[in-house]
Amino acid sequence: MSRTVIVTGGASGIGLEMCRAFAALGDDVHLCDVHEPNEALDGVTPHVLDVRDENRVGALFDGVVAGSGRLDVVCNNAGIGSTTSVLDCTVEEWDAVMAVNARGVFLGTKHALRHMLPRKDGVIINTASAAALVGVTDRASYSASKGAVIAFSRQVASQYAGTGVRCNWLNPGTVDSPWVGRLLDGHPDPEELRSQLVARQPMGRLGEPAEIAAAAVYLASDAARFITGTDIVLDGGLTAR
Ligand code: NAD
Repeated sequence: MSRTVIVTGGASGIGLEMCRAFAALGDDVHLCDVHEPNEALDGVTPHVLDVRDENRVGALFDGVVAGSGRLDVVCNNAGIGSTTSVLDCTVEEWDAVMAVNARGVFLGTKHALRHMLPRKDGVIINTASAAALVGVTDRASYSASKGAVIAFSRQVASQYAGTGVRCNWLNPGTVDSPWVGRLLDGHPDPEELRSQLVARQPMGRLGEPAEIAAAAVYLASDAARFITGTDIVLDGGLTAR
């Protein structure tokens, strides 16, 4: 049966692969992002949405449910990075990162629950990061924002565990998305930086966006029906080392 799926940050990288993966299963996918995707995908409806804006998030979720009558899966995946230490991080940068990465996940979860709880069914999958599990140099606000995603998701899962709604989160390591491309582009020696990123990977390579999307598909599936309040770490062994 076709499910109704919302993916935020769906125009690029991991979110785009999530959209592709759910659409390949025949789901009715709603891609939300601050900008339109570069390509049209079968089974995927694009929406321009800023996840920081509660009124727009609420209205978009209402519109999707009005159109399809249900909301089965929400992947709160939109995120922005930061590459500063605590000493270099300004209040403006801290607030900006928190607004997308933490508030955006809060709002996507809140408005998903409004529609899922009455039906006693639904799955929420939030994208956190391995950067919230281990200390990563020059990621002060980013690591904090992803730590917030984890604590928040655990709280939500716990409170609503008896309702039929599940909430889990993904902790990707370094994934070869446009995000990493921008990190490399901004570096004086991109090849050297890429070599450094790969060198610290126990598997000797970065992750692929589709590998993260596959975990979202699993968590959303009936095969994961006993799983709530936990994560999947997708880091090629980085945090294990
Ligand atoms: P990406 O930059 O390719 O994609 C992120 C998407 O989020 C972009 O399309 C962007 O436009 C969108 N976005 C940003 N702000 C938004 C907003 N306010 N409202 C709606 N959409 C917004 O990056 P990615 O690597 O695919 O990252 C996806 C998620 O995975 C992020 O939450 C990121 O923190 C997380 N993550 C990525 C990595 C990695 O190495 N790539 C590692 C761990 C976690």
